[in-house]
Amino acid sequence: MAKESEARWLLNHGKAAVFRTYPFVIILKEDKQEKHPEYYTLKIDPGAKTTGLALLDSKGRVVQFMELEHRCQHIKKLLDTRRNRRQRETRYRKPKWGNKTQKKTSKFCADTPRPEGWLPPSVKSSVDNIETWIRRIQKYCRLTDIVIETVSFDTQKMDAPEIQGKEYQQGELCGYEIREYLLEKYQHKCQYCGGASGEPVLEVEHKHPKGQGGTDKVSNLTVACHKCNQAKGNRTLEQWEEELQTKEAAKAERQKEPVGQTGKNPKQAEEKPKETLNQIRIENIGKVLKGQTVGASNRYCAWVNASRWNLFNMAKRYGNVEISRGHITKANRIKAKLPKEHYYDAMCVKKAPEDIVILTPSVLCIHATGRGSHFRGRANECGIITKNLPRTKFVHGFQTGDIVKAVVPDKYKTKGTHVGKVAVRTSGFFNIQKKESTVQGVSWKFCQTLQKADGYSYAFKDVNNERLQTTQTAKKGEEENRP
Ligand SMILES: [Zn+2]
Repeated sequence: MAKESEARWLLNHGKAAVFRTYPFVIILKEDKQEKHPEYYTLKIDPGAKTTGLALLDSKGRVVQFMELEHRCQHIKKLLDTRRNRRQRETRYRKPKWGNKTQKKTSKFCADTPRPEGWLPPSVKSSVDNIETWIRRIQKYCRLTDIVIETVSFDTQKMDAPEIQGKEYQQGELCGYEIREYLLEKYQHKCQYCGGASGEPVLEVEHKHPKGQGGTDKVSNLTVACHKCNQAKGNRTLEQWEEELQTKEAAKAERQKEPVGQTGKNPKQAEEKPKETLNQIRIENIGKVLKGQTVGASNRYCAWVNASRWNLFNMAKRYGNVEISRGHITKANRIKAKLPKEHYYDAMCVKKAPEDIVILTPSVLCIHATGRGSHFRGRANECGIITKNLPRTKFVHGFQTGDIVKAVVPDKYKTKGTHVGKVAVRTSGFFNIQKKESTVQGVSWKFCQTLQKADGYSYAFKDVNNERLQTTQTAKKGEEENRP
């Protein structure tokens, strides 16, 4: 976790040794840490698909950027295609889990609620991935603090005391944060049409209009699309509702007459009436007046929230944990004019470093690949097994996913030195996946394991430093001008 050139120097002068190859970690031979211990902070921006990680030293410099790609979607797909004993339908089998949240009565009771802290496997895997990486980083350096971004607002209570305070409303980010809060609270849905108007632009709306004595208080604000906002204009909710109702009534009367006169197929007319935009609006205004929110709560959203709290409880075992809110991260990133990348988001969690110094030129991309399947076969789309796999995953001590080095003598077809990920075959002739190509049919006898499969694959990408370069050149210019 040092600069590449420094690491090379240390290795060449025998001051350090390679601790791990993938990802590349070196260990110092002399323990200078005893005299001058360095402490690190890990900042985490968890996402459904990709999690951003940034490791900072005590001076707030970025030592390492990481992007951890989860396999939640893959797991979901596997679970969807899995045919379990209950789905086989040879006889009735009791469901293992019930929907009820009543108290647990027996271990195998059909209506046993899921245990506390249960997460769907796809979501749980992402929490587990993050835990694995916290543990690994802890092995490589002195990790003392962990900063995690949790959900933007507590959606279960959905009140924002920190926003409703007076001093907050005068702050610099006031308007921005209130907008974020409202969007989150109303789940990015127009509160008057629920998205039926097809207008994508959402605006902050005063329920009781300012022109009629409405205030700027958060309780008076809601989210509406541009069309609904324009349609409502300078009316109160009650006035608008009344007007829409009279409009609808008039429209209904007008529609009745021609149908009776022309004698067209009455069935068609009966089937047709779809809920018009105004009818939807009337219904929703009623809800808003009662204090309800329009748009059903998203189940997935609830799980994401649950996983974030789960993550927080997990991280507490590894260091001092601080939490921050999502909208603060976004505000920090926009303030620092950084591009939208997961690792920059992670860096800006809670508080962006004042002077952004990035010691690493690249981002370590970690992709969770899993460790192969339990099912020892291959099935087609219908779930019929078309191929059987060997009972054991090991062949001559090698496993698919291991990083190996193969030195093949010149007399063989696959001559040369190959380093890469191995895919084992029972024949003993493996495939080695290199960076550019795949070599097929390398005998196990020439292979040597560099690192055992650990369920992840690694790659590097360059830090997106468009903005950083421009600021650095600007700074240099300033310095030159000064003397
Ligand atoms: Zn609308």
